[in-house]
Amino acid sequence: MNIIDAHIHFYDTPNFDLLAEQAHHQNTAEHLEQEFRRLGIQGAVVMGNGSLEPNAHIYPSFMRYCVNLDHQCFARDQSQRCIDLVEQHLRRRECVGIKFYPGYQPFYIYDDVCRPYLELAASYHKPVAIHTGETAGRHSLLQYCHPLTLDKAAGEHPDVEFVMCHWGNPWVVDAAAVMTKHPNVSADLSGLLEGYLDMDQYKEEQAGYLAHLSTWLHYMQCWDRVMYGTDFPLANMEQYIDLIAYLVPSQYHEAVFAENARRIYHLDF
Ligand SMILES: [Zn+2]
Repeated sequence: MNIIDAHIHFYDTPNFDLLAEQAHHQNTAEHLEQEFRRLGIQGAVVMGNGSLEPNAHIYPSFMRYCVNLDHQCFARDQSQRCIDLVEQHLRRRECVGIKFYPGYQPFYIYDDVCRPYLELAASYHKPVAIHTGETAGRHSLLQYCHPLTLDKAAGEHPDVEFVMCHWGNPWVVDAAAVMTKHPNVSADLSGLLEGYLDMDQYKEEQAGYLAHLSTWLHYMQCWDRVMYGTDFPLANMEQYIDLIAYLVPSQYHEAVFAENARRIYHLDF
């Protein structure tokens, strides 16, 4: 099977080192290269963290990235500088989209502050990935990252390809409503697992939740717009492949595990 991980983080910080260890991994390029080869993963899309400076986004050849807006982008006097920097990224082959973190930052994706970036993304034919669903930590606000916030943005920007990261989990019913309505909204299924688990026990204890996910995946019938992703370093990659193979009917594995990400992010691996 071909696999593309459409949502990882690759950022050098002690916190990510620890998360990787908890998931039985290491937060290094060497380890990821080895694991990708072992598990048949052709490449990954890094969701950017940190600064907008172009030299802060240099990744191994088996990764592409979405550039993230840093906190300065929300200061009014910095907006043109940020727009110019984002455009510099979008000109690069390695930069395959823009990542927004509403919830972690106080804005709605349909706010005016996002408009120039959405227009840039459309003109470079690159998608925008939006954090949706639960957040880590208490300093975030869930109202900004509810999947229904994409309804207005997707309607107003039909030429922008939106990726709903984490499929809005646990608001997957709302996420399904948005995806059913808007053909320019896709989702990645990252962030559903954390750490290293006893998968048999997990499937037994979470049988209701997993049936719920499966129900709404089947309800949507958007198998060409759902992508495999892990949110590494949060989860164990082998267990994540197991989970998604369990949730997605086998006739859609090729699409969900690789082809949709290749098409949506225009990947060349
Ligand atoms: Zn993430």
